[in-house]
Amino acid sequence: MNNETILATISCSPEKHRGVVSVPVYRASTILFPTLAEFEAADIGACDYAVYGRYGTPTSEALEEAIAAIENADNSIVVSSGIGAIAVAFLTFLNSGDHVLVADSVYGPTRRFCDYELKRFGVETTYYDPCIGAGIEDLIRPNTKVIFLESPGSLTFEMQDIPAIANAAHKHDIVVIADNTWATPLFMKAFDLGIDIPIHSVTKYMSGHSDIVMGVISCKSVHYKKLLHTFRNIGARPSGDDCYLALRGMRTMAVRVKHQYEAGLKVANWLANRPEVAEVLHPALQSCAGHDIWKRDCTGATSLFSIVLKNGYSHAALSAMLDGLEYFGMGYSWGGFESLIITCTPQKIRTATKWTREGYLLRIHVGLENTDDLIADLEKGFARLKAVG
Ligand SMILES: *Cc1c(COP(=O)(O)O)cnc(C)c1O
Repeated sequence: MNNETILATISCSPEKHRGVVSVPVYRASTILFPTLAEFEAADIGACDYAVYGRYGTPTSEALEEAIAAIENADNSIVVSSGIGAIAVAFLTFLNSGDHVLVADSVYGPTRRFCDYELKRFGVETTYYDPCIGAGIEDLIRPNTKVIFLESPGSLTFEMQDIPAIANAAHKHDIVVIADNTWATPLFMKAFDLGIDIPIHSVTKYMSGHSDIVMGVISCKSVHYKKLLHTFRNIGARPSGDDCYLALRGMRTMAVRVKHQYEAGLKVANWLANRPEVAEVLHPALQSCAGHDIWKRDCTGATSLFSIVLKNGYSHAALSAMLDGLEYFGMGYSWGGFESLIITCTPQKIRTATKWTREGYLLRIHVGLENTDDLIADLEKGFARLKAVG
């Protein structure tokens, strides 16, 4: 079945809800057992159906079924944030004394989880150059248990050679966990590339309306029991209302993301021809270093990318440009309906590689506004940038 059809039909069970096509919001703590026999038979830590609100409801199950279907996963587990999903995945596969390899271009809060939380429990993290490819094998130690990748990288958009990295990992029985939020399950088929555990921040394109925070972990059945066990012990279940909103957002996800792919490319190509811009970091642009890998591994691109301004503009000029923008708001997150722009400083974060570009780095999210309006807004912004200089 094609993605669009999956998203329009999955988890619809009108026969259970008097003909209503959307799964209703179940708000639940208590879920009653009809008999003592069923109460006594339920192994509350392990059973795969809802016995208590924290363990799920028909609303969260419907959402998990939808995500698993577009991911080609056997199972998905929704968690109360993207970073919570990443934490659960790490804690499932790591023990005290283990070692983990993490891409140097990884999302900042993922890095903080490694540097502060994993470290406290005696897990050592080594950051690797996201362009390392098969060379990752040289960094593998006898106690390396997880490789965590994110392609393209947060802020700087390096594409990683996922099949080469996964191949090296699997030779050493290492679990490959990937943050695939950017590509979404629509544009990157994680399991086909060798990823064992794809993770998404549902907050972004999946829910798509900038009104909830949620994450999801997906897997093939070999890993499900272990992940579920750790997830239940941590207890980070999203609310029924948020699961409802996420599933509602996913109904239009294929349409939104395809539109944003095209809109993002249009704005990126316009920016690439501007004299104020030194470089556009967008894997779907031929000029981008990771373009060949993107073409091989992805069937599309989403609408988040970065630009490097030419060196020499003052901070006051940058403020004039950004403060006056009408449609591009300054704020975290992305994947919603609204366009966003923020400044980034990877030079302060990286440890395995060096960020040597000197101009300001701006991350741009193209939302659902008309692209001509967005381009006109940026054009006026560049005029203010140059006026201050
Ligand atoms: C936003 C984001 C996350 C974290 O998601 P939350 O839902 O905000 O916790 C993880 N990875 C990437 C790449 C993100 O952009």
